[in-house]
Amino acid sequence: MLRSFTRTFVSLAIFLSFALYVHAQALSFSVGTAIAAPGQKSTGYLEVPTGVDAATNIPVIVINGAKHGPVLALVSGAHGTEYTSIIAMEKLINLLDPSQLAGTVILIPLVNIQSFEQKVPHINPIDNKSMNRYYPGKADGTQTERASFLITKQVVDRCDYLIDYHGGDLDESLRPYAYWAPTGRETQDRISKEMVLAFGLDHIIIWRDRSTDLAATRYLDNTSTARGKPSIVVEAGYAGIVEADDVALLVDGTMSTMRALKMVSGEPRPVQNPVWLDRVVDILSDGPGIWYPLAKRGTYVQEGMKIGFVTDYFGKVILETRAPVSGVILHINAVPSLRKGDNIADIGTIATHAP
Ligand SMILES: [Zn+2]
Repeated sequence: MLRSFTRTFVSLAIFLSFALYVHAQALSFSVGTAIAAPGQKSTGYLEVPTGVDAATNIPVIVINGAKHGPVLALVSGAHGTEYTSIIAMEKLINLLDPSQLAGTVILIPLVNIQSFEQKVPHINPIDNKSMNRYYPGKADGTQTERASFLITKQVVDRCDYLIDYHGGDLDESLRPYAYWAPTGRETQDRISKEMVLAFGLDHIIIWRDRSTDLAATRYLDNTSTARGKPSIVVEAGYAGIVEADDVALLVDGTMSTMRALKMVSGEPRPVQNPVWLDRVVDILSDGPGIWYPLAKRGTYVQEGMKIGFVTDYFGKVILETRAPVSGVILHINAVPSLRKGDNIADIGTIATHAP
């Protein structure tokens, strides 16, 4: 009797542990080679295979919460020298605790590894393409396109919400701001607006009229937005400088947004009276030269105000740069070098009404 009871008990225990194992496998979440069971954090890579050019491995962290909830994707380092956003992601890897999390976070801290390692701004030096212009990507394209294709399949298609992190690149002196892109879809726009307000950056660009063609979404956030997922872009940091205050803006903003999405406990701290900007006007260089700024990032300028000048290599002034519109300098060229077509500054114009 006792022996048969023991046998039954052992069989039952084996069956239960097998059932629990199957259940945990079913609930585990994998992205690339990172696989995390509920309550676990796992690291791995999105493996971009060799194609017309070299292969690359993009680091990915999956934080699978102990509780049920949505999937949030956090992506940074498409421009690998926008360091502040990358450092903020590294902090979040350690800060996010799967035992306290409802839902799953897919965290990609550094998309453009070659840009980071070789200190090349704006582009992936392997194929000279920006890693935030070729979405949804191509399986048989160059490295940037293959990486974008993989991120679309493995990250965008799997998430419910997405935040794309940027900042001033090595040559950009930038004040922090966010982008919010309304779509006309009421529920999606309400949630994405709640996300951007919860994030807390006090200048928000309203980014309208974006491509809805799923094969030509170009930007990561738009790839996600066009697929019906509330998404925002946030920017902080500038010119290769990593300041603790800027890192904190991105880390605290992420936590506040996750509170708004009910993924972590606590109340969000939304920005109360943000400055809404309805247009961004680029000022481009029309020739090579040496740039002398007369205004700083974040300065409010009036149309026609001189914000800097350009000389040739003999010291002769060849151009006075004036603000084409009234607004706020979102970023301004941080270094003397200027080529034809380079971006001298971006000015955001203040929206007459909050959306
Ligand atoms: Zn960027």
